[in-house]
Amino acid sequence: MARHTTSNITWHEGSVTREERQRLLGQKGVTVWMTGLSASGKSTIACILEQMLLHRRKHAYRLDGDNIRFGLNKDPRQLIEKAGYPEAAARRFGLGFSAEDRMENIRRIGEVAKLFTDAGVIAITSFISPYRRDRDAVRANLKPGEFIEVYVKVSLEEAERRDPKGLYKKARAGEIKGFTGIDDPYEAPENPEIVIDTETTSAEEAAKRILAYLERGGYLAA
Ligand code: ADP
Repeated sequence: MARHTTSNITWHEGSVTREERQRLLGQKGVTVWMTGLSASGKSTIACILEQMLLHRRKHAYRLDGDNIRFGLNKDPRQLIEKAGYPEAAARRFGLGFSAEDRMENIRRIGEVAKLFTDAGVIAITSFISPYRRDRDAVRANLKPGEFIEVYVKVSLEEAERRDPKGLYKKARAGEIKGFTGIDDPYEAPENPEIVIDTETTSAEEAAKRILAYLERGGYLAA
């Protein structure tokens, strides 16, 4: 690997301090944790925010259902079919949507977000993450100021009206069991850093508000 010779970067016996990493990147690592009902707008807002940050030459990376549930947190069936796991191991390590599996899903995502944060990246997560205790555990695992909880708020009626993937319809028909908001609870954050009411705020405006929060908090400078 090429060695950097920039004068304000110092190498310490193979280890790089967090401050050095931040100076190199010109930003501070942080986890922007979006939580809310399915169809509240988490992914839509996360995509716009990521784009806005990249346009400002800031390093941001989205963690969402696609790159986690299809990868690190595959379900047992995928582990058997795609990764050749024996059934017992697949049942042990694969994740579905039971309360226990949701807890482990969020724990793993929290650990991945923590690694990105430590690497100086702005990690933007968009998962329903319905249980308060699980989100609070992720917060407790990060340093103060490194976890920004964004409550992406929508009424159940409006979420069902949007239903971009037809999931509420399936849940109402009993084709999906344990669906958040229908037959599984959503516990709204009690003290989130940011609340966005997506029934009165456009996705673009929401992303701008989060960007402004990051700017004010000094995250976009080293
Ligand atoms: P989630 O990731 O929370 O499941 P998505 O972003 O996938 O939600 O879907 C939200 C849907 O709602 C999209 O079809 C989006 O276009 C629509 N939508 C309508 N108004 C808003 C808003 N103000 N903010 C975000 N999404 C909105």
